[in-house]
Amino acid sequence: MSDQDYREFDPNETDNDISDEVIEEVTGNKDSSKDDKKDNKTTEFCYICHRPDNITGPLIKMAPGMSVCTECMQRTFDSMGSFGFGGGDNSKSNMDMSKMPNISFLNLGSLFNDGPKLKNAHGTAKAADEKDRPAPAIDINNIIPPHKIKEKLDEYVVGQDYAKKVMSVAVYNHYKRVATGTMDDIEIEKSNMLMLGPTGSGKTYLVRTLARLLDVPLAITDATSLTEAGYIGDDIESVVSKLLAAAGNDVERCQQGIIFIDEIDKLAKKKNTNQRDVSGESVQQGMLKLLEGADVEVPIGASSKNAMVPTTTINTRNILFICGGAFPAMDEIIKSRLNKHSSMGFMADLKDKYDDDKNILQKVTVEDLREFGMIPEFIGRLPIVFATEMLDEDMLVRILKEPKNAIIKQYQKLLELDEVKLEFDEGALHAIAKKALDKKLGARGLRSIIEEFMLDIMYEIPKDENIGQVVITEDYIEKKGGPKILLRTTGLIPEKAAAN
Ligand code: ADP
Repeated sequence: MSDQDYREFDPNETDNDISDEVIEEVTGNKDSSKDDKKDNKTTEFCYICHRPDNITGPLIKMAPGMSVCTECMQRTFDSMGSFGFGGGDNSKSNMDMSKMPNISFLNLGSLFNDGPKLKNAHGTAKAADEKDRPAPAIDINNIIPPHKIKEKLDEYVVGQDYAKKVMSVAVYNHYKRVATGTMDDIEIEKSNMLMLGPTGSGKTYLVRTLARLLDVPLAITDATSLTEAGYIGDDIESVVSKLLAAAGNDVERCQQGIIFIDEIDKLAKKKNTNQRDVSGESVQQGMLKLLEGADVEVPIGASSKNAMVPTTTINTRNILFICGGAFPAMDEIIKSRLNKHSSMGFMADLKDKYDDDKNILQKVTVEDLREFGMIPEFIGRLPIVFATEMLDEDMLVRILKEPKNAIIKQYQKLLELDEVKLEFDEGALHAIAKKALDKKLGARGLRSIIEEFMLDIMYEIPKDENIGQVVITEDYIEKKGGPKILLRTTGLIPEKAAAN
């Protein structure tokens, strides 16, 4: 349709067919529409019911000159629903449109009432929100130096000193760059990161902790779910709408957030394939723009774009992208490169020199990443590359007991509420760490192992008021005996003793 087709519905045209009389007829209020004109306020009319927006409330713009009121739009949805398109109980048809990709049915009333709103479109809502938010541990507008950022990370993340150092510097530079815009007219490069490391070594945890300390929104996505736009799966820009949701639809906060894309190694270019690679190389291609900084249009309050969902523009220039992955088989690539270099001339080394190097991933180079199947342009947009260490038994034991929110501390706190003291023998902690190592899930296995042993304890202890202390022993973890239970003695826990 050309603009010409819409002309007769433009109420501001002087030679318009919809005259004041028609307006009077629809509104039943001769003066109000005229007052609007006097106030220089543009009155818009619903394309379907022709009522003006001062009666219907805000209209939804469908096309130039074509706006529809929420009531008419809802009626249209409802009638589609009655044909079985809406899913739900009254759907008579087998075709459930709500389950189809890219089609979502929404309650339009919520758009203008308590539904998703752009926060900074309403300054007052934002100001109130900001007042409620507690002060962040690290203020991104007045960022603390890298060694202080690392100190904060140390409280939660055990070991991984190199990773924490690299991240602290990168985050410092990034938010410094955000705060100043440019420095000496030299645009500072974005500090996007690529983090390699075995499963369960704390990659996601590091990013989560960082985002929490900085109090910036964080979106975590799995690269395997991403496909090139137009194919089944989430398109690449959906990561930005996730971040907008995490920022509570606040565009400004969203634009300073962090996006973590996990399992990035799954996007490696497939070798020797003739098929179109919609979920690997082309997703890497599609992400280039985002990583560098681009304006993307994202739906508000929904994960996919469609004609019915309002959208907003997000600039990704100041969004920090962190990509992570385990990169299996990368060790072989690194080893063969290192062996190639070291097997020549007088400096020749033994071929198996690197076989026992558990942290060989830390020797990764850009060439190794290319060999693995990451495209050069993609690697170029992630200038900071580093690897997390493989966790050993001692580190796992420290993870169990040291962090501020360590698993053991959590259980101790829980039992403390029942006035029972919980302790773990050093031997028990090592036995748990060994079990986790056997599972090859890194620190991720710890919680499930502890949960298995704590279940009985958490179930039995509240039964008996006399129990004052429980000690988890190595024998209990090895299933050779039970935990040590100490009964409450007078004076041990005074309040309880008094109650007894
Ligand atoms: P990855 O993303 O590398 O696969 P995660 O970050 O999901 O691993 O780690 C799983 C869990 O293990 C985290 O939720 C965290 O509780 C714990 N964890 C891992 N590494 C550490 C660490 N270095 N310090 C403290 N806790 C850790």
